[in-house]
Amino acid sequence: MSKKVPYKIVLSEEDIPRAWYNVRADMKTDHRPILHPATLKPVTAEDLAPVFCDELVRQELNDTDRFIEIPDEVLSYYRMYRPSPLFRAYNLEKALGTPARIYYKYEGGNTSGSHKLNSALAQAYYAKKQGLKGVTTETGAGQWGTALSMACAYFGLECKVYMVKVSAQQKPYRKAVMETYGATIIPSPSDTTEVGRRMLAENPDSNGSLGTAISEAVEVAVTTDGYRYVLGSVLNQVLLHQSVIGLEAKAALEKIDEYPDIVIGCAGGGSNFGGIMSAFMADRLAGKTAPHFIAVEPASCPSMTRGKFAYDFCDTGKVTPLAKMYTLGSGFMPPANHAGGLRYHGMSPIISQLYHDGFIDEARAVEQTSVFEAATFFAKAEGILPAPESAHAIRVAIDEALRCREEGTAKTILFCLSGTGYFDMSAYASYLSGTMTDTIPTDEELERGFAGIPSLPGIQ
Ligand SMILES: *Cc1c(COP(=O)(O)O)cnc(C)c1O
Repeated sequence: MSKKVPYKIVLSEEDIPRAWYNVRADMKTDHRPILHPATLKPVTAEDLAPVFCDELVRQELNDTDRFIEIPDEVLSYYRMYRPSPLFRAYNLEKALGTPARIYYKYEGGNTSGSHKLNSALAQAYYAKKQGLKGVTTETGAGQWGTALSMACAYFGLECKVYMVKVSAQQKPYRKAVMETYGATIIPSPSDTTEVGRRMLAENPDSNGSLGTAISEAVEVAVTTDGYRYVLGSVLNQVLLHQSVIGLEAKAALEKIDEYPDIVIGCAGGGSNFGGIMSAFMADRLAGKTAPHFIAVEPASCPSMTRGKFAYDFCDTGKVTPLAKMYTLGSGFMPPANHAGGLRYHGMSPIISQLYHDGFIDEARAVEQTSVFEAATFFAKAEGILPAPESAHAIRVAIDEALRCREEGTAKTILFCLSGTGYFDMSAYASYLSGTMTDTIPTDEELERGFAGIPSLPGIQ
């Protein structure tokens, strides 16, 4: 079989999907309902309405429509950076001496530097359409805040970003990018909210945490007229919007008569993995030939490989609803020397359920020095400097390609290269200077996190 596959498989504007794919509609067992933290009853649209805008609430609760049309206004922005390129990694294959055919879908080509823009645009659009004035959110490293700032600038919405204080101090350029797009950046904890003032009273020198930033952003959204809160991962609606990644990848592979044997993505909250996976998961759920799915997470924050499948809070402050998911406990903090993202204690309920039911075949945990080894190897061969998060997927793609070399099998491997590494050079610097270490939580440390998972008698 010899086919001439180009290095870059380019689709045209007409190939941008016109609808997002809602994998939930095809799932054999839906994920357990999200529970209201006070009543422990499944949340209703009315419960969510003060927090999220109406159309996004409908999408969050939609388990029946397989496809949801992408509004023209969102498409008009998608057209500026989509379809994202699918690359055949010829040079990586050569460097590895593998018979495997490796493909990667690159989502880091837009200014925000990652796939997060795919959902930010949808969320900002629906907020604007509802006549809202603005949205609030939190950001840790800054990728989500940047994507949302771009989307809000385009649709003419105010954007308030609660940025973990230590991150705002360490990443002044991230802050400057968001401000260029007109967003307001508030280092968290701040004196602009009840929660923030309480945290500051307890600890005036607090560096902040994602959990506190979430609580501040939610508080402002529900107490400010014309405001709602938006979130960049974990939620069903975010996986829905990210389905464009896999739909495009599948269409591009079809053009060259390819179908992946293995699909790989890194998993923090699960949105880029959910995105690359879902178009192929549709085949698995329909009983057709389908790839082997591998979700990759850091060994320092191993929610799928060592976590519990249980109802847990989605935030550290325990103010958000409870989701049935793989979790390390909402109080779990990854070791301080863990670089880059993928620090979330839980996992998307959709991904969790599919993994629990065996439709996602495998979760693999990888150590960060081996991740950066893979990142630099990839950068030298393929030119693109990967985000540390994305490099988790690269690590496993390389491992699978090396296994093909040993076994003499020519498998087709597809992975999602979710972002660029330009914004995380301090992590690379740490790797290059040899100061990066691997810290894997002990069972005792995990037990402390599990102890914070609420026990809910009678609820499974
Ligand atoms: C945010 C981010 C991730 C992790 O989030 P998911 O929801 O798991 O996709 C991965 N890669 C990049 C580049 C990111 O910015």
